[in-house]
Formats: sequence, structure tokens, C-alpha cells
Amino acid sequence: MQERYAARYARSLMNTFGPPRLTLVRGEGAHVWDADGTEYVDLLGGIAVNALGHAHPALVRAVTTQLQTLGHVSNFFATEPQIGLAEKLLALLDAGPGKVFFTNSGTEANEAAFKLTRRTGRTHVVAAEGGFHGRTMGALALTSKAAYREPFEPLPGDVTFVPYGDEQALADAVTDQTAAVLLEPLQGEAGVEVPPAGYLASARRIADEHGALLWLDEVQTGMGRTGAWFAHHLDSLGAGVRPDVVTVAKGLAGGFPIGACLAVGAAGDLLQPGNHGTTFGGNPVACSAALAVIGTIEAEGLLERARVVGQQLREGLAADPRVTDVRGEGLLIGLDLAGERAAEVFAAALEAGFIVNNPTPTRIRLAPPLVLTEEDAAAFLDAWPTILTQGGVS
Ligand SMILES: *Cc1c(COP(=O)(O)O)cnc(C)c1O
Repeated sequence: MQERYAARYARSLMNTFGPPRLTLVRGEGAHVWDADGTEYVDLLGGIAVNALGHAHPALVRAVTTQLQTLGHVSNFFATEPQIGLAEKLLALLDAGPGKVFFTNSGTEANEAAFKLTRRTGRTHVVAAEGGFHGRTMGALALTSKAAYREPFEPLPGDVTFVPYGDEQALADAVTDQTAAVLLEPLQGEAGVEVPPAGYLASARRIADEHGALLWLDEVQTGMGRTGAWFAHHLDSLGAGVRPDVVTVAKGLAGGFPIGACLAVGAAGDLLQPGNHGTTFGGNPVACSAALAVIGTIEAEGLLERARVVGQQLREGLAADPRVTDVRGEGLLIGLDLAGERAAEVFAAALEAGFIVNNPTPTRIRLAPPLVLTEEDAAAFLDAWPTILTQGGVS
């Protein structure tokens, strides 16, 4: 079965991702099944997307009901889910009055934010090395990885990259011509890179000194992933820091495509009629899905669960001496292996029935559904030493 799908995929889909590892057919909670009926514990959650796991009844109900009621209108018209979600996101952000622009993805949320920064009358953006902001031309211009950027140059310019977590480098790069400082509160695609305590507060101060916006990309870290609604709310990262712009997407609607650009205070009025637009962004089905995800995280206490199960996983993973570092917050976890064996560990984990991710040759990332049970986490930790051995880590 797998071979037949692989051949059809290779003939009919652009080879942008490399060959897919498996063809999956079904999911329930934190478990998925492939086309041959093999079951896996999903510790990647569609890359920090499936917050409620797979086929959560509340999400299924919200999408079904909304589609039966009103599936799409143009942005010439408003809908209740769109307004309700904007209000809810601003309340969760807890940074005072603001405005929201809805999109269909993370990269589009960042495009909206990037265009918003241009409306300050300045063009310079300072972003971080190792940062990832998406694949469209604007977001790509803000993404540091040369291999992603260079084949597509020239990209929108006037971007300075500084070492992540280095306060002095940031202070040196930001000038009175800087429109925005763009940072992830912790870097996801880099393999979960955590900045020193106080870094976001320093970024806020430096941006303020030059009249620049502080823009936090929480596409991966937001919406409960780290055990707080936004990673910059965590004491360890940025408690008390009030950003001007926050972008979210991945976990927002638990797998239904959506993104959002949240702008606080005056930044919320930078984009004016005619400056930006979208056909699908703010679609009532996507907004209802997001409201169901948020409501379920609240009702099921999933922020707390992310903290508790995340801690259980980090401690268990670190117990093996072949793991040289474990980082992250809540259920966004990165670890370093002794040696470049991440691809082999990924394969060994899959063989053992667990889906993990290898963002770099030495790093493993976990971003499981927030509904992951202690039993599933314990089963993975039991299998972990064998997975490392099978993966050739010594
Ligand atoms: C995934 C990601 C993006 C891009 O989101 P897409 O939905 O894939 O376009 C942007 N920023 C961060 C931090 C991400 O992790």
C-alpha cells in the first residue's frame, strides 16, 4: 500500500518536501494510522498544529455546524465567528486594545505584519539568525537561512540579521530608521532555541529607544503550545513585555488553515482600506474552528496539561546520557543528541511507533497534541533508550 501511494505521489506532486515518509489515513487523539493499518503516537502534531489531536469532537462539531450554517462570505461582509475570534484573541493577548487581520497561514500572517511595518514610513527590519518566518517572498526575506532565501533573490530588502539571544547585537543593529524588530519568543524551526531570560524585555526597550515596533512571531509558539496562551507571557521568556505586533497560525484552529496578525494600540491602525486584503482570511468556518480550539483548551485545562506533560517528557528525555541538552517550554521540546544521528533517530522512532521530528542533523523536536496523555508520554519514554540505540547514538 505504502509503495503504491509513494509512486503516485512522486508522479503527481511537486518534489518540494522530498518523498513523504508514510501515507496516513486516520487519526484519533494523539494517535494516527497509516495506509497499512500501523498505529503511531503522534509526537509532532502536524508541526505544532494539531493542538486537540486528531478528530476532536468539539472541532468536528464546530466545523460541521458552521459549514451547515454559513460557509463563506466575502470580506465585504462580516460574520459573528470572525468578530468573536478577533475579540477573543485580543483578550487572550491581554495587551490592551488592538486590531486583528486574519489570514490562512503563518507566512501570510507575517506578510500582513511586514506590510503593516512599512506603513510606519520606515523600511528597515531587524530579524534573528536561525529565525523562520515562512516561504512567501516577504516572509522569506525575513528568514535567515541562506539555503531557503538565496535561490529566490532579489527579495524585499533592508533586513539586518543579528545573532539570536544577543542583546548587544540587537542594540547595535536597531537605528532610528528601523521599522520593526522581529523575533520568535523561542525559535521553533531552529530546533527549539531558547533565548536568555530578559532578552525579549531588552528587545522591547531597544525598539522603544528608536521608535521601532516589536513584532513577535508566535506562529509556532502561540495558542497554548508552551503552556501559556503566548510564549512571551511566560515568566522565563518575557512576562510583562507588551509587543506591538504578534503573528499566530499553526495551532490556532487545530489543523484548520488560519493565521492572524494581531496589532496592539496604534499599530492596529497602520493598515487602512486598500492596503491589504484576502479572499479566504477570516472565513467563518476557520474562525469557528479556532473558537472551538480555544474553548476546548480552556474547558479541558490544556495549558496546565502542556506544562505537566512537557515537564514529564523533558525530564525523561534528559535522563539518557546520550541526550546532551533538552530545551523548550510546555509541549514544544527540542533536544540535542551526541552526534549527527537525528535522521536515524527519527527512523528508529517511527519503527517503534512514534512520530518525532529532526529539524537539524543533531536535534530532535517534539510538538505533540496538547491532549497527549501521560500514558502515551510514558510509553515514549520507555521506548526512548532503545530508539537511541537503534538510531546509533552512543
Ligand atoms: C511555521 C512557521 C511559519 C510559517 O507558517 P506557514 O503556515 O507554514 O506559512 C512562520 N513562522 C514561524 C515561527 C513558524 O514556525
